Amino acid sequence: MHVLITGGSRGIGAATARLCAERGWDVTINYVSNAEAAAKVVAEVEALGARAAAVQADMGELGAAEALFDAAEAALGPVKGFVNNAGVVAKASMLADMAPERVKRLIDVNVTGAILALREAARRMPTDRGGPGGSIVNVSSAASRLGSPATYVDYAASKGAIDTLTIGMAQELGRSGVRVNCVRPGIVETEIHMDSHGFDRAAKAGPSLPMGRAGRPEEIAEAIVWLLSDAASYTSGALLDVAGGR
Ligand code: NAP
Repeated sequence: MHVLITGGSRGIGAATARLCAERGWDVTINYVSNAEAAAKVVAEVEALGARAAAVQADMGELGAAEALFDAAEAALGPVKGFVNNAGVVAKASMLADMAPERVKRLIDVNVTGAILALREAARRMPTDRGGPGGSIVNVSSAASRLGSPATYVDYAASKGAIDTLTIGMAQELGRSGVRVNCVRPGIVETEIHMDSHGFDRAAKAGPSLPMGRAGRPEEIAEAIVWLLSDAASYTSGALLDVAGGR
């Protein structure tokens, strides 16, 4: 079993890579610029007894998805699990103050990149296209239902697109041996918050959250890996909130 995880070098993707390895998956991780972090995850996956590969690709660029799947298949064989996880935020602000370039780049990565990655999975995984079947997990966000006013409405809207994509693709691939779900994390302890807030937002917001703390990447990974597994064999089209009651 081979799982491909976009944005697997850090945060939620890296935790998912480690947990997949523990549960018997070989793992290809994708990263954009942090080769050192990617190499560390590869070593961790291998130490758990699984095969691993790392592939650099900017998911915001046209052609990246096709090249990524080609490289992953060449390294570890057909992809049976796909975690569509790579995503970016940008500096917290009101929409009126956002530069058009920032909005375009965010949509290029979070929406266009995610759709084209899913397109690639939809060309290779379905049993009626000669693929192995399998499971796809899109990583959305609680932001898709909260709207993220005065923070990043562009990001929230990009995650709304991921939710919608999940609903449509679960139906498109339902008879082709491929389940499609999404996980919507709440505030999780990763480095992403430095890009939006410039400080450890997860630590600061923790006490105000329903469970009195932010989530850990490993807690999101548990939901993703369950959705990848046969234990979730009749779950498709689900938008699973893993947000600690938020
Ligand atoms: P993170 O810690 O900032 O890690 C981001 C990962 O994505 C890294 O592996 C990074 O690679 C990769 N990446 C970024 N831009 C990319 C691009 N253009 N092409 C390919 N890879 C790219 O982020 P995270 O918190 O784990 O977030 C993962 C996903 O969860 C995202 O979709 C995010 O929106 C979602 N999410 C996060 C939270 C949260 O509170 N953390 C909450 C809800 C949803 P490099 O290491 O090379 O930079």
